[in-house]
Amino acid sequence: MKCTKCGSKAAVQMRQHKLALCAQDFLAWLPEQVERFIRKYRMFTRSDRILAAVSGGKDSLSLWDILWRLGYQVDGLYIGLGIDGGIAYSQKSQQLCEKFAAERGLRLLVVDVAETYGQPIPAMAERTLRGRDKPCAVCGLTKRHIMNRVARDEGYDVLVTGHNLDDEAATLLGNTLTWSVGHLVRQGPLLEGDGAGLVRKAKPLCRIYEREMAAYALLRGIEYIYEECPYAEGAKSLYYKELLNRLEADRPGAKLSFYLSFLEAKENGLFALQPQEVRERMHACPTCGQPTTAPGECAFCRMIQKVALENRT
Ligand code: SF4
Ligand SMILES: [Zn+2]
Ligand SMILES: [Zn+2]
Repeated sequence: MKCTKCGSKAAVQMRQHKLALCAQDFLAWLPEQVERFIRKYRMFTRSDRILAAVSGGKDSLSLWDILWRLGYQVDGLYIGLGIDGGIAYSQKSQQLCEKFAAERGLRLLVVDVAETYGQPIPAMAERTLRGRDKPCAVCGLTKRHIMNRVARDEGYDVLVTGHNLDDEAATLLGNTLTWSVGHLVRQGPLLEGDGAGLVRKAKPLCRIYEREMAAYALLRGIEYIYEECPYAEGAKSLYYKELLNRLEADRPGAKLSFYLSFLEAKENGLFALQPQEVRERMHACPTCGQPTTAPGECAFCRMIQKVALENRT
């Protein structure tokens, strides 16, 4: 297989784009694509201050690398979840993020959940869920809360995450199977902030396949954590990814078209309920001030209180 651009040996083949590229051309092509999507969806500009949520995985670190190479002002945010799982998962991923930032002279903000809220994620989950389930619900809630708080308090214009096309397509499939309209109306490359509590959120990699991101990290020599979070095993999202991969194997481009047709349908008003209307149903949590749809306090503050209560008993 030869590189479509220069004719030398291809390193990455992308059937869905009918494109094969050598390492050098691929490393130039991918950031160009990301730049195109940043503009297309009006995510941010070079005068914006960007906060990238990094987990130590290939997608978030590659995203940080790409935005930095493209000349954006981007700092990183690492959230220490306190997950060990026998592989020192959190410790290792934090080290990799710190190393990445130090090598490039970039600023990394670190929030440690246990230091801030008294307990690491697994202990919090144990107390709220009584070991009935994985800690993912508690973890997701906590991460969203912290990301929004830090971005807002530190005055960032936009928060970016490393969700790739496979992540977005899997989420979309999950939300479609249950017709979770509230989630569907908010899913997309960009979620506007509300000028008050909720920061603008963007996903610059939402149209990039996971295997392209893996190739990018590898070819750029980015050191990332190979292991998944020990709690990820058996997650529904992984099952949906697998289903979509089967579809993609038979029909190259199926994943991308599933996601893009959704965005198009939404733009054409298929979803009558606009995010603004969902937002109008929100109010500020009396405890932390972040927007919530829950009556009274937000789900996060209720969880923290429950944890504190359990601690006392
Ligand atoms: S798999 Fe679950 S516990 Fe692990 S990082 Fe993801 S949401 Fe958190
Ligand atoms: Zn080439
Ligand atoms: Zn709250």
